[in-house]
Amino acid sequence: MTRHPSLEGLLLSSVLCLGWLPACGSGGGGDRPGGIASREDGWLRGDLHVHTNVQGGFETLASTIDLAEGLAADMFLWMNPAYEGNQLDYLAITDHDSVAALSDPDFVSDQLTLVGGEEWSGDGHAGCWGIHELVVKDPDGDGKSQADVDAALAHAHAQGGLMSINHPMLQSNPFLWDPRGMDGMEVWNSGFGIGDPALTQADIEAWEASHGPANPFVRRAAQLQGGLCSRQNLVLYEALLARGEHVALVGGSDRHAFLLPGFPATYSQAPSADLEGVLAGLRARHSFVSRNPAAAQVLLEVRAGGRTYGLGDEIPVAAAGEELTVVVRVGRAQGGLVRLIAGEAVASDEELATAELGRVALEESVRSDPFTARVTLQARPGTWFYPVVLEPLVAPGLDAAQAAEVRDIARQVAATGAEEFTALGQIMLKYVDTAVLVDSSLCNPRSWSPDRMQCMPQDPDGLATFYLPDFLDRTLNVVLEDGEITDWCMGALGSAALCVAE
Ligand SMILES: [Zn+2]
Ligand SMILES: [Zn+2]
Repeated sequence: MTRHPSLEGLLLSSVLCLGWLPACGSGGGGDRPGGIASREDGWLRGDLHVHTNVQGGFETLASTIDLAEGLAADMFLWMNPAYEGNQLDYLAITDHDSVAALSDPDFVSDQLTLVGGEEWSGDGHAGCWGIHELVVKDPDGDGKSQADVDAALAHAHAQGGLMSINHPMLQSNPFLWDPRGMDGMEVWNSGFGIGDPALTQADIEAWEASHGPANPFVRRAAQLQGGLCSRQNLVLYEALLARGEHVALVGGSDRHAFLLPGFPATYSQAPSADLEGVLAGLRARHSFVSRNPAAAQVLLEVRAGGRTYGLGDEIPVAAAGEELTVVVRVGRAQGGLVRLIAGEAVASDEELATAELGRVALEESVRSDPFTARVTLQARPGTWFYPVVLEPLVAPGLDAAQAAEVRDIARQVAATGAEEFTALGQIMLKYVDTAVLVDSSLCNPRSWSPDRMQCMPQDPDGLATFYLPDFLDRTLNVVLEDGEITDWCMGALGSAALCVAE
């Protein structure tokens, strides 16, 4: 497919580039193409959590795939050049308790590696990928139990598939079962700044009254209050690492309607570009999550015993401990902040309740693109560490009034519940053509503007789907501290490396 802008496109360009954002020619978020996680090195980006109208979503399977492919469409790239080369590589279809997509003739794409999957639902959700048969949530029909969780995990693995806990701290549907043995954890569900309020000890106790003990990791994570469940997800991830549960850090858009797949995007370092390759990368925990397919990237590099290790690896170290130099490489996040969060093993589930978890072992401003930071850690078996990249909440180039408006939107986003798409629509009212919103057949790319939400013509009927320009996407991923928005949005999160006895 050729990607030359049409004459019509060029004429549109001269009309539309009068907006207040530095979008035209720069994609509204700086020069995004390229990056450090290249396809040559096997890094494929995709979405692991997407619904269709089979169960919960609004779009047909065909339209859902078309939408994911839309990031590579000529007109889209012309308006958003930052996406040149930043299209999605894979897409998982994860309808609630359904694998109908697998036998649907529309389950095909010449652009995307499609991952057959399911969102294993009911009380506590989990994503299954690479499965062929339905993993049943409650085979005996008497309500979900820990035995059902264990059987589901075994069934997913027996099929060569993977299973990963979804939105684990979501107040309206957390995952309180014992997650040991799972392959991944969805730390980033839809926007990092969108979500339910933090899960409380009272919520956990209410669940325990009818189910028995919740897992010890959620109890530790629920100690963090004053933010959203997404912040608690990170504590939960650290609690698992501290107890030697080394799982892939993943994300998913949980797309049902309105917004595009790929926001956030999960990168898998795939030894091949097919389904088996994507699964192998995730199985090896060679993964990181980015705010969108064109946003921040992060990689780790650790030399030990004459070998080089990266994201998600197990690193053999001397039992007595040894010094490790950890190199964190950051792409496409200039003006941001990079951190390496490190922690140690905790001896028992009981000790986890009071244990200190992640500490900031490294924090540096991201002064260039790409950017490299290093830190020396005293590592022993059980030491773990993972990278965090924050990007400025206010996109470069906005003036004071625009910056104030962005902060105002971010505050409203942070107060919005996870399933409140109507409220989100209201927040974005200024940036959406409401006639198109309720009738996507009216979508005309000639109406696109770089500083407004852009309707996607691949969504043919009903509620429209929109691309959010970078400056708005940042607001959906605002990072909260003590209940207040900060100057940052989440840019990227990488799977932890874990030191083991050599
Ligand atoms: Zn779910
Ligand atoms: Zn879902």
